Amino acid sequence: MEIVGKSRLSEAVKNYLQRINRERVDLQAALIDMDGTLYDSMPRHAEAWRLMTSELGITLPIDDFFRFEGRTGASTINIIFQRAFGRNATEREVHDLYERKKELFNAMPSVSVMPGAQRMINILKSAGVMRVLVTGSGQNTLLNRLNTDFPEGFSDDLRVTSRDVKIGKPSPEPYLKAMSMAGVLAWQCIVIENAPLGVESGHAAGIFTIGVTTGPLKSDELMAAGADITFDSMTEFADRLPDLITVFNSTYIH
Ligand code: MG
Repeated sequence: MEIVGKSRLSEAVKNYLQRINRERVDLQAALIDMDGTLYDSMPRHAEAWRLMTSELGITLPIDDFFRFEGRTGASTINIIFQRAFGRNATEREVHDLYERKKELFNAMPSVSVMPGAQRMINILKSAGVMRVLVTGSGQNTLLNRLNTDFPEGFSDDLRVTSRDVKIGKPSPEPYLKAMSMAGVLAWQCIVIENAPLGVESGHAAGIFTIGVTTGPLKSDELMAAGADITFDSMTEFADRLPDLITVFNSTYIH
């Protein structure tokens, strides 16, 4: 495994500044995804989706559910319906099938916090970087655990969930919403994501987007989706985060 050195961090920051045509990043906020980023929940979500769709008589490869990650439940259900039946699901179908998926998810053993995620949050806290949650999920199972698992990690008024968006990832909408909640501009924040569609959303919002691979999809897919830099695990990202903050504070382009 290749460790991300300081020169690669600074290279990534310079490339970003050139792309958005700014002199420097003024880091004030981190906009952070939940599933697969803060919680090791994706294998169970994927399995719950797979079980729910197999009850409809539809078979999809398990990796497809990792590629849907970031979408709202309704958007995922519509994609599955379009592929299988050539039409969108009705509102009633969306409601019932999402409830069934949640039921299957909740019947599985409870998920663990992603190793390295608590350390990552603590580093941001001590650096005075505001944290904003940006998730396509509307599942209270995990949302309700955040305050316990990440004490003072996320204030209640700095959360974008499926209830706050119309379109959701991969549209930039959720990250734009998070920026306005936090009162910051694109060059004043970072996005921390594990999924290609989430990375696409952060990139489209013009934000320095960090891709952390925590599942079966490789870093190439995160780079192709627009990641400014990738890390092979949340532990590695937490290890490199203090240096990344230093690099943000010391990198200027003219
Ligand atoms: Mg995720």
